[in-house]
Amino acid sequence: MILIKTAEEIELLRASNLLVSKTLAEVGKVILPGVSTLKLDEIAEEYLRDHGGVPGFLGYNGFPATLCTSLNDEVVHGIPSSRELNEGDILSVDCGVKLQGYYGDSAYTFSVGEPSAAYKSLMENTRGALFKGIEMALAGNRLGDIGYAIQNHAEKAGYSVVREMVGHGLGRNLHEEPEVPNYGRRGNGIKLKEGMVFCIEPMINMGTRYIIQDKDGWTIRTTDKKPSAHYELAVAITRGEPDVLSTFGYIED
Ligand code: MG
Ligand code: MG
Repeated sequence: MILIKTAEEIELLRASNLLVSKTLAEVGKVILPGVSTLKLDEIAEEYLRDHGGVPGFLGYNGFPATLCTSLNDEVVHGIPSSRELNEGDILSVDCGVKLQGYYGDSAYTFSVGEPSAAYKSLMENTRGALFKGIEMALAGNRLGDIGYAIQNHAEKAGYSVVREMVGHGLGRNLHEEPEVPNYGRRGNGIKLKEGMVFCIEPMINMGTRYIIQDKDGWTIRTTDKKPSAHYELAVAITRGEPDVLSTFGYIED
C-alpha cells in the first residue's frame, strides 16, 4: 500500500530531509586524503543528534553505523571503518535520519581531492540521471517514466544501471512502497499521485551493471571492480509537480 502524505506530513519530511542534506554537507567538508570513513561517521552522528535527529540507518536490519560509506567499486551499503581515503578516490555517502517521527534519506558521491576525468564524468552523469528522473515525477505520469529517464541518460553516456537496488517510498518508515527502479519503460508501472513521497536514487556503474555482496553481509560492489556512483534525493508530488525535499545545495554552495 502506498501511503499518501498530507501537506503537514510533507513539511515534516522536508525538515528531516533538510537535516540529512546539512549532515552530508558537514561530512563533505572533511572528505580529504588520510581521513577514515569511521571519522566521517562520527561527525555525521554528532551533527544530526545535535540537531534533534536520530540516525536512521543505525540498527536498521542490524546495520552498524550512521552512514553508508561506499568507496570506488563499492556501490552502496559500505560500512564505515578505519580505512583511510586516498587522493583520487570517489566516496558515496548515504545518510538517513529520523526527526519528529519522519525519515530523511539522501546520498551524494564525493571525490577525494581532484577526480580523474573518467570518475568526474561518471559522477556528473549519475547526478544528471537523478535530475532527469525527478523531472518526470509529475502527477499522472507512471513510475516507469522516471526509471526510463534515468536509464536513458545513464546508458546514453555509456554507463550501466544497477537493477537489484532501487529507490523507495519515504515517510514514517525508511522504506515504504512503492519501489522506484532506476530503469523502466515509459507508460509502465503505477500512476503517480499528489501526496506521494519517494526517494529517487540511481546507482550507476562505469562498467558492468552486475553487483555482488561482500562477506560482511552489507557492502555491495561491482563484479568487475570498476567504480560506481550514487546520488539520492527525496521528492514529494505537490500540486502535480516534483517538490524536492532534500537538496545538494549545502554541499555544492
Ligand atoms: Mg539512502
Ligand atoms: Mg534510500
